[in-house]
Amino acid sequence: MTLRSRFTLFTVFWLIFILLLYNIFVYFFVIRVTTQGELTLLSSKAELVLESLRHAENQRYDDPKLLSDFYNANEMMRIVMADNTIVNEIGDTELRTFEPIFHKGISSETREINGQRIIYLTVPFYENGTLVGSIEAARRLTVLDSYLNILVGALTVTSVGAVVFAIFGTYWFTSRLTGPIGQMVQTMKEIDRSGKLQMVKLNGREESVELLQLVRAFNQMIERLDRTLEHQKSFVADASHELKTPLTIISSYADMLKRWGRDNAEVRDEAIEAIAKETERLQNLIHSMLTLAQAEQTEWLDISRFDVVKVIRELSEVLGTTFQREIKVYSDGYTVPMRADKDKIRQLLLILIDNAIKYSKQAIDVRIKPNKSGIKLEVTDYGIGVPENEIPYMFERFYRVDTARHRTTGGSGLGLSIAKKIIDMHEGKVEVYSKPGIGTTISILFPRNL
Ligand code: ATP
Ligand code: MG
Repeated sequence: MTLRSRFTLFTVFWLIFILLLYNIFVYFFVIRVTTQGELTLLSSKAELVLESLRHAENQRYDDPKLLSDFYNANEMMRIVMADNTIVNEIGDTELRTFEPIFHKGISSETREINGQRIIYLTVPFYENGTLVGSIEAARRLTVLDSYLNILVGALTVTSVGAVVFAIFGTYWFTSRLTGPIGQMVQTMKEIDRSGKLQMVKLNGREESVELLQLVRAFNQMIERLDRTLEHQKSFVADASHELKTPLTIISSYADMLKRWGRDNAEVRDEAIEAIAKETERLQNLIHSMLTLAQAEQTEWLDISRFDVVKVIRELSEVLGTTFQREIKVYSDGYTVPMRADKDKIRQLLLILIDNAIKYSKQAIDVRIKPNKSGIKLEVTDYGIGVPENEIPYMFERFYRVDTARHRTTGGSGLGLSIAKKIIDMHEGKVEVYSKPGIGTTISILFPRNL
């Protein structure tokens, strides 16, 4: 069952139920109020008869004038003595067929003759303190019945109208409400069919906030997927391009070796040298690519608490001895505790220091500055620097500021994109300050509460 019909059915049934309750209440309330009115009328008449009995001297109970003064059409009045005999009676013949019942107290009830409602009242009367008899009065509720007929008619018409209105109203409303859902389903089917991602278009109507949120979330997801797909495509393109260059070099040197390598020692040495170098470059490239792919897949972090100063000092020592470079570590505290993924932070610093080593000749400064908002790590070198307009692209995959220049340094252009991934995973912020010929500082701020 569609959401629309469900909603319509539910609303209509609910409405019918409420209307039914309401109509029943109105019907009985009107009956009660009007009968009460009629009863008051009848009892005041009986009261008047009693009054005239009391005041007139020697008034006899069977005097026809006693009742005829108060009698109206559609009514019956009579005087019943204590022994149940009727001494005086006037009015509607049909009403007179009621058996007389002597009551000691005032009593009233509604009866029915041929489906018509009748109100019946008895009022006792006394003489010198002893109970003598009672006055009985009955009245047909014809006016009330005709009013009730009108009321029932009116209630039926309005109720049916309300239900019809509700059916159309709810149907229209839910159509509007579920419209975007239908559109989303349509778009999903279209995506499934064509294999091309697309967003749900809203036709500018005012939709409910929740549905707008749903559509927006869907569109955001599609946008992200689209971006990821685009990224992947460009990654594959870039990667194959990057892999092709060293492979072409290797294969052409191998060709050269095959042709002249046996006789010419110089050619042989050059080829072996080049092949070895390019193979190493390939190895590095593939290693970086795998690292990046891994970083992209695993979103989780292995968080632990460690002393970041110690990690940086150890790393600087190893890199300093390996590359025969001076790396100075400055820290605002003897130890700086940090909550993060230790291995990933180490890898990040390795990438930054590696760049500093590659792109400068002087000593390198690494600073650790804990502050209120977090921990700031800075790697500064005094080397070739990066032109300002290139800074925004440094963190892109395979990006190298000057490709020709860096073929000699052997970078693949993946280091900083891995670094960026690690920074993002730790919700950190990165800033680059660089001037060509003067140097570069890369500053990263890690939030304290990860
Ligand atoms: P690798 O993947 O081996 O690290 P890479 O160093 O070329 O290769 P990235 O570390 O991503 O790649 O750096 C991207 C580019 O940014 C570099 O090629 C270089 O041009 C520039 N760059 C990065 N760090 C520095 C720096 N400290 N000084 C000058 N240029 C830099
Ligand atoms: Mg690098």
